[in-house]
Amino acid sequence: MTDPATRLADIRNRIAHAAQIARRDTSEVTLIAVSKTHPAETIVPLIQAGQRVFGENRVQEAQAKWPALREAHPGLVLHLIGQLQSNKTDEAVALFDCIHSLDRSSLVAALARAMDRAGRQLPCFVQVNIGAEEQKGGCAIADLPTLLTEARAADLPVIGLMCVPPLGIEPAPFFALLDKLAREHGLAGRSMGMSEDFETAVMLGATHVRVGSALFGERS
Ligand SMILES: *Cc1c(COP(=O)(O)O)cnc(C)c1O
Repeated sequence: MTDPATRLADIRNRIAHAAQIARRDTSEVTLIAVSKTHPAETIVPLIQAGQRVFGENRVQEAQAKWPALREAHPGLVLHLIGQLQSNKTDEAVALFDCIHSLDRSSLVAALARAMDRAGRQLPCFVQVNIGAEEQKGGCAIADLPTLLTEARAADLPVIGLMCVPPLGIEPAPFFALLDKLAREHGLAGRSMGMSEDFETAVMLGATHVRVGSALFGERS
C-alpha cells in the first residue's frame, strides 16, 4: 500500500469529487479515520499527514491508545462509533468528543447522568438499525421517535442519525432512508458510509463518513 499521506489525500479527493457531483460543499463532510485495532505507531503518520478526527469502536481499546496520543498531538477529535455499555459511560464521556451509538432508552439515561457528572456535553448521533437486522445494534425505526423524545427531554445534544447498512447488498437505499429519517426529525447530521461505500454516502447526504481499512489497510 502507498504511504499514509497519499492514502489520506486520495480519500479526501474522492469525498470532494462525490460532493461536487451531488452539488454539495465538501466542507459539510467530516472524514472520521477509524483506527480500531491499529496501534499508535500506525496512527501517528496519519496525524502527521494532517488528519485530526478519529474513530474507535471500543472504550477500553481507546483508553489504552488515545490519552498519550492526545497529549502529544493537541487538537485531535475522537468519535465513539461502536456500541456503548451503560456501565462505561463515564469513561466514554471523559475520553470521547462525540458518540455515534446512542440506541436505547437506558443509554439515554446513563449518558445524561455521565455528562452531568463530567460537566461535559457531547454531541450524539442516534444509531438506527436501518436494515432491521436481528443481531445489529441501533434502535428500530419504529422506536426512533420515542428515543429522540427521551434524548431531548434528557438534554442530550442529539445532532444526527447514524447507520451501518446490511452487508453484501446495495447500501444506497439505506443511506437514502437514513437521510429521510434525519430530515423528518429535523436533524442535520448523517453518519453513514465506510471504506467500500463512502462516496455513495456523500452523494446521499452524509455529513460524517467513517473510513477505516481504506486509510489504514486491512485489520488483522
Ligand atoms: C470498523 C467500522 C467502520 C470502518 O469500516 P471500514 O470498512 O474499515 O472502513 C465504520 N463504522 C463502524 C461502526 C465500524 O465499526
